[in-house]
Amino acid sequence: MTSLSMIPHSRPTLSAAEANAVADTIRSGMIGEGERVPAFEAAIAGLVGVGGGAAVSSGTAALHLALLALGVGPKDEVILPSYVCAALFHAVSMTGAKPVVADIDPQTFNLDPTSARKRLSRQTRAIIVPHLFGLPADIAPLSELGPPLVEDLAHTLTASYRGRSVGRAGRMAICSFYATKLITTGQGGMILSSDRRLLEKARALGRYDKVLKKGLKFNYQMSETAAAIGIVQAGRLKEFLDRRQALAGFYLRTLDGVRARLPLPPPDREHHFYRFVLRVSRLARNQSLLKERGIAAERPIFLPLHRWTGGRCPGADEAYRSALSIPIYPSLTDNERDRVVQALREVLV
Ligand SMILES: *Cc1c(COP(=O)(O)O)cnc(C)c1O
Repeated sequence: MTSLSMIPHSRPTLSAAEANAVADTIRSGMIGEGERVPAFEAAIAGLVGVGGGAAVSSGTAALHLALLALGVGPKDEVILPSYVCAALFHAVSMTGAKPVVADIDPQTFNLDPTSARKRLSRQTRAIIVPHLFGLPADIAPLSELGPPLVEDLAHTLTASYRGRSVGRAGRMAICSFYATKLITTGQGGMILSSDRRLLEKARALGRYDKVLKKGLKFNYQMSETAAAIGIVQAGRLKEFLDRRQALAGFYLRTLDGVRARLPLPPPDREHHFYRFVLRVSRLARNQSLLKERGIAAERPIFLPLHRWTGGRCPGADEAYRSALSIPIYPSLTDNERDRVVQALREVLV
């Protein structure tokens, strides 16, 4: 038997342009603070269509600062979906507030407005709305709940919901530029807002030498080398999204007959296909059969948060039982894509 190389579940997409941008930054001698961070902030704010951005060291740091800028602290509650990256839970906890976990709509994997409404209390100070896997959440009913929304664009930078880019409905939005996100700076994040006062408050909280009257300060700044990578990547976002659309279109056409439910976006919103998530039965078994064929397919969420915190979230439980994410990223070659399809056709029968 010929040994097949493993196709990884995710992979960054980098080129000589990013390497040159880092080398230029190092040669300039300005690696701490310079002109690249503000240029990267302007580029991302421009793509999303908001007033400005504050670049930081991670998505988790961005969320921490966004919540602090909104005044979230001890005795407050912040609503977030159960089926999401654990970073959100930690960012809320870092403010001293209590994370209150709500269920998702199992069709879209996004925060269910009805469940969020049930979790509202007098202590609710914010609602975190991730647009999971590349699909915008149902923002309209969430906006009507009252507390300010913090949109999480880590999977869904610039996708449109009813003709408008995500990231503009809430008071603030955050983004992550970790290695395998839509675009990367290695590690990195950004706070986005059209509310200048809130944005500058968040920015100041992430730099210890800007004096604020009271409270803790953090050192969360992004480096110039990271921003140099980010500027190149921001310029490639369109190319990356086009490749993701092409791969998703291919999967949707060629996987039509397999025993799985395929992702179908509601008609009022775009899907950026940060993840291509199938719903399957016998998930663990299918995952290991794919692995034998050299395909790394993963549960896209490590563990729903309510499994730690308690509470009932049947939608998140169902997603956890059946959601299997297959390789989709701009650097996936046509040959690799064909191998993924071939393996899925053999396994999901
Ligand atoms: C990755 C991710 C984060 C955290 O970002 P880091 O840069 O890893 O801290 C937050 N939310 C979502 C939805 C993510 O995927």
